[in-house]
Amino acid sequence: MIVLKFGGTSVQSAEMIDRALDIASSYLDRAPLLVASAMAQTTDSLVAIRDAAGAGREEEARAILAAQRARHVRTLEELVSGERLEATRERLDRLFAELSSLIKGLALLRECTPRSSDAILSIGELLSTAIVAARAEERGIPTELLDSRDFIRTDDRFSAAAPLYEATNRLVRARVKPRPGHLLVAQGFIGRTESGVTSTLGRGGSDFTATILGAALEASEVQIWTDVNGIMTSDPRVVAEARTIERISYGEAAELAYFGAKVVHPSTIQPAIETGIPVLVMNTRDPHGPRTCIVERAEGVGLRAIAGKKGITLIHVSSTRMLNAYGFLSRIFATFEKHRTPVDLIATSEVSVSMTIDNTSGLKGIMADLEEIGRVRVEADLAIICLVGQDLWKEPSFVAEVFTALNDTPIRMISLGSSDINLSLVVPADTLEAAVRALHRGFFDSGG
Ligand code: ADP
Ligand code: ASP
Ligand code: MG
Repeated sequence: MIVLKFGGTSVQSAEMIDRALDIASSYLDRAPLLVASAMAQTTDSLVAIRDAAGAGREEEARAILAAQRARHVRTLEELVSGERLEATRERLDRLFAELSSLIKGLALLRECTPRSSDAILSIGELLSTAIVAARAEERGIPTELLDSRDFIRTDDRFSAAAPLYEATNRLVRARVKPRPGHLLVAQGFIGRTESGVTSTLGRGGSDFTATILGAALEASEVQIWTDVNGIMTSDPRVVAEARTIERISYGEAAELAYFGAKVVHPSTIQPAIETGIPVLVMNTRDPHGPRTCIVERAEGVGLRAIAGKKGITLIHVSSTRMLNAYGFLSRIFATFEKHRTPVDLIATSEVSVSMTIDNTSGLKGIMADLEEIGRVRVEADLAIICLVGQDLWKEPSFVAEVFTALNDTPIRMISLGSSDINLSLVVPADTLEAAVRALHRGFFDSGG
């Protein structure tokens, strides 16, 4: 079997839904499972609905709902007719009625828990897949619409829930039955906890759903269909000259995704690594054009791509008591563990430690605890640039070239050596784009 995941832009209109189904129907003999995101901008609108309702601005929330309803119904009407249109419109109406009662509840309480947030955000994928499945049937494709919540089991960390693999694999194998000649359609992004509550895997999580399902069903391939020609040497929105990387290793792709290349969700690679399934990244508007294949091992050494991520905060802890002492680092990391905040990059000297975080929700508590250990200083509004490639350090001139390209950029921190495949730099957020362009020019435009 094969998993085909279509992102938000790939299902954003009647025309794009038909393109996605053209692609899916060309794979019918390979027992395809189509995983779809919400139509582009829907999840952002649901976030706006949640925030407005939670702040008691019910009218505003209802206005956004009305616009989303009109958009979804219009798209459906362009694609489906007759009884199927009636039945699917009723399905959409039920979902909008559910959204409407969630708005009422939040507006009354004037608060929004992560749990109700997930209930709201999950509706985007339920809407888009209802339309996609109805259109597939309309085109005469034997189709089965599934509800991913019936088989994606997660923990209860709402808004960024993690899959419980044992239960998920068992349920997927019991309930999802791919077969040649049939199209299965399922939602990305959403799941359910063991106590039956709707959860989501975090923004961009539909890619993750695709590889979770691919691994459980031993797919021969997972294809991520999106709006760019695969994973490129840099974000094409930042670097116009970026070009497609034909083959990239799981490790390199994971590193890029984690440090800002949102073309695949950071967790996507994990289920694929364990089963060795190739993951392809392709462009729905250019199905035969350049694409990327993510595989166990990709040939070649040297720089493969440059990613960047804003919203980074740097925390410095210094104490002369660190001199010749042990136990400081473990106390520092225990603090981050206590506040459930992941640390990305670390640099240490004899008397100080610097760390980056991107989730600042626990920052106050972290600072209070760290102040027990040493002097604490915080720098906000930073960005990480991540240069990814196999054995980067083997080319002695590599680091020199990085510094030459970044001549004008104040570098706040560097991390090289913790893995063979990445050099990371921390720079002020407002210099990120220019720095990435300068690096790309230096390494890729000169044929390097
Ligand atoms: P989808 O809705 O299909 O999941 P996303 O918007 O999540 O698509 O991801 C695709 C976007 O990722 C592209 O439009 C591009 O701007 C961005 N992107 C960032 N870094 C890269 C990269 N290295 N290669 C390709 N795209 C990238
Ligand atoms: N619709 C969700 C989001 O916008 C999940 C996804 O698109 O992957 O974050
Ligand atoms: Mg995405």
